[in-house]
Amino acid sequence: MSAALVVCAALTAGGVPAMAAAAVEYDIAVRVDPVARVLEGRSVITADIPGAFVLELGKRFEATRVLLDGKPVGPAVRNAGTLQAWRIPEGAHAARRLEIQWRGKLSPLDASLDHRQALRAAEPVSGAEGTFLPDASGWYPRIAGALARYRVRLELPRGQRGLVAGRLIEESESPTGYRAGFEFRHPAESIDFMAGPYRIETGTLRGAGGRPIRLRTYFHPTIAALARAYLEAVKGYLELYESWIGAYPFTEFSVVSSPTPTGFGMPTLTYLGVDVLRLPFIRATSLGHEVLHNWWGNGVYPDYASGNWSEGLTTFMADYAYREREGAEAAREMRLAWLRDLAALPPAQDAPLAAFTARTHGASQIVGYNKAAMVFLMLRDRIGRDAFDRGIREFWHDRRFRVSSWAELRRAFEAASGDDLTGFFGQWIARPGAPLLRMADAASARAGSAYRVTVTLSQSAPAYRLRVPLSVRTVAGIVARTVRLEGERETFALEVPDRPIEVTLDPELRVLRRLAPGEAPPILRQVMVDRTTVTVLLPDGGAAREAARSLAARLQDHAPRLLPPGDELPAAPVLVIGLQEELDAWLARRGLPSRPERVRGKGSAQAWTASRGDGATLAIVSARDAASLAALARSLPHYGRQSYVAFDGARAVGRGTWPARPQLLTLPSQSR
Ligand SMILES: [Zn+2]
Repeated sequence: MSAALVVCAALTAGGVPAMAAAAVEYDIAVRVDPVARVLEGRSVITADIPGAFVLELGKRFEATRVLLDGKPVGPAVRNAGTLQAWRIPEGAHAARRLEIQWRGKLSPLDASLDHRQALRAAEPVSGAEGTFLPDASGWYPRIAGALARYRVRLELPRGQRGLVAGRLIEESESPTGYRAGFEFRHPAESIDFMAGPYRIETGTLRGAGGRPIRLRTYFHPTIAALARAYLEAVKGYLELYESWIGAYPFTEFSVVSSPTPTGFGMPTLTYLGVDVLRLPFIRATSLGHEVLHNWWGNGVYPDYASGNWSEGLTTFMADYAYREREGAEAAREMRLAWLRDLAALPPAQDAPLAAFTARTHGASQIVGYNKAAMVFLMLRDRIGRDAFDRGIREFWHDRRFRVSSWAELRRAFEAASGDDLTGFFGQWIARPGAPLLRMADAASARAGSAYRVTVTLSQSAPAYRLRVPLSVRTVAGIVARTVRLEGERETFALEVPDRPIEVTLDPELRVLRRLAPGEAPPILRQVMVDRTTVTVLLPDGGAAREAARSLAARLQDHAPRLLPPGDELPAAPVLVIGLQEELDAWLARRGLPSRPERVRGKGSAQAWTASRGDGATLAIVSARDAASLAALARSLPHYGRQSYVAFDGARAVGRGTWPARPQLLTLPSQSR
């Protein structure tokens, strides 16, 4: 399994809270029986809303009582979605009181759901191994578009424990069952409910100003032994981000295990798959990302209408920051992976950051997480680390628990740096795609006692305003320079003290750009996200055909477009799946590169990429037999960032990427 499995989704609601100013409170009491899969609830809603509003509840639930200021409310409207709705007319006074009782059946828990399916499902699921009631399932009645403070008291049968985000205010256990009460005193966008056969471990951290922060793990018994290590790791992250950004905004943080392979960040907690929590690298990466979402996403709310900046900023200050701590090489690797992902994305699918709302599929993840993280990196390179960190602290101080847009971020960084950043944010947030940058020409000449290197850079139109790092290798060492490229083609002169040998464009990969074909060696993800990909299935029948067909469907975000094996290949990415011999014969017949040395003879199945003569990517999946092919269905989709992988059954036994080649021009040696 790779880290891609646990890319998180901050579970905040998908709409802009339209009534952010309204004062709404929910007082919810809910009882869930995971074995019978039954939920029963009662809620009192107090709403200080001057006009009419809409009350919503999941359609699957039966509202047995709906009272407005003590009087029954008419039947709900059942519209096309998953919710039923009551239109509450404008009242004589603004303070309204609604009382609702409801009950209903929950869907059975399907622990075999993969991460993408689990993210998409807005169903309330329950079973002895776990209960997850996502906000979007409408498991409790809420006022559409309102942020709300809440109190939730929950009741579960003996052996089960559960929680929602917030401060634990009461907890008790008796022979009949478990009860707990939670309170969330900030206007919240959503409430998600989790329960399971949990063992609870606790710890305490003295936060900023000596404030105690209660730490907990709610783990399935099979991973209970990991609890201490997780509590320690959470402490480290809370300390890191309190000193970097500002005081942790809540009174607790919990790590909760899920029977499905999810990765959700919610205020005061993270909900991670039980198999995910077992992976040793999670504590070093994803956990910190989820902790940081308490500042970005669940502390300051993104303004979805103008683009969700919170995943990008969280990726930059968590995943990327940890790589920087590891060293310059590890950080560069991550930047290369981001740019390679971006290069794998067809331009038509590359949306502007302003259009990124939440994670829905692979392509939007590339834009929302990686591209945005790279924009923050360029911003820090431009204004400097001190101004960047000041901007971050200012933004946090001013925008806590408020819906905030990219424009608010820009203003915070402008205040901290004194720079006008309108142009910078304008081009990187509003424009789709990225510039294609080329070093068109380079030459050198003597200039007195020194040397002058002239470099011509070009970029795709319309031009971006870029600061482009160049490095000149001279007989005495490396000279680094940054030039400002603002047109489609410009020539720059650089003075260097010693005889220059070669010049390299953006050697550290610090500019968000579309890598040129040689710079971006093909990776498997290309055929997964590009909707123009055609798929060739070589087996003509039987179990091998079936395994190939279902693997093709698992690998792609879209329905595979099949091409008969004998047809001419179009100028588009091609995915070929087959058994070893037919595959080698197919490649040979078409004059395509044969099986590379790196995977030849390794394991029971191999996947690799190659560039065709016309530059289009070819991705090949080859297996010894039908069973070896079928074994890839769950694992291969996690290796999108690789150029090649070899498998023994479902286990990867070798993988890697073809080397990247930076744009480099050799300077002819000049006569003295
Ligand atoms: Zn995230």
